[in-house]
Amino acid sequence: MIDILDLHTHTIVSGHAYNTLYEMVHAAAAKGVRLLGVTEHAPRIPGACHPFYFINFKVVPRQIEGVRLLLGCELNIVDYEGRLDLEPRYQKGLDLGIASIHEPCYTCGTTAQNTAAYLCAMKNPIVQIIGHPDDGRFPVDYETLVCAAKEHHVLLELNNSSLAPGCNRKDSRKNMASMLEYCQKYRVPVILDSDAHCEVDVGNHRYLHQLLEEISFPEELVVNDSLEKAAAFLPSLQKLLDLGGSRDA
Ligand SMILES: [Zn+2]
Ligand SMILES: [Zn+2]
Repeated sequence: MIDILDLHTHTIVSGHAYNTLYEMVHAAAAKGVRLLGVTEHAPRIPGACHPFYFINFKVVPRQIEGVRLLLGCELNIVDYEGRLDLEPRYQKGLDLGIASIHEPCYTCGTTAQNTAAYLCAMKNPIVQIIGHPDDGRFPVDYETLVCAAKEHHVLLELNNSSLAPGCNRKDSRKNMASMLEYCQKYRVPVILDSDAHCEVDVGNHRYLHQLLEEISFPEELVVNDSLEKAAAFLPSLQKLLDLGGSRDA
């Protein structure tokens, strides 16, 4: 399938990634990625940037080397009420919000509590994508998750890094397959993301394409082949497309 976007990546700003914003964009351009999302970790991840970083995105062009750019944040879900760790006053300039559960920022609850945490986060208008809900260290009721994503018009992410050798997430493949069964049943779209922490991984969705092929997942339920399809879930992308792409640099 055609795959032209990658909305979950990190730069040196996240504290444990290794390239600059411009290096990531350059890699995206070289690989034919037409829309790149850069989503730095929010403050509770050790080594992440000061929240001031997130309020100055206005200075960055939203198209560089022909690549459209969304600047956002991967926010941490911190409790079973789905609270997030970036204060509202720092959220206003975000193009994109991914909400994820990360080990240092969240105490695993029961399946019901973890599921509730995701559901509450989905109700927050700052969140457009649920990041890597495949980690078996935080068990989730996938049927409930998928139905809620449909109701709240939020994208569920398939995260390529979760399937990469050495990843410390647990049972990701099995959990993705389970989630995708419900996505097919309820006709809920997903997004493929690299979660790249290094420019070599920008646009790398290799393991995900393998998985989708193996289970014959319908292409129409993947938003990666069309900016318009993705824009239906991402108001700032819709705005960018309406403007014809902002200034180039
Ligand atoms: Zn993450
Ligand atoms: Zn990430």
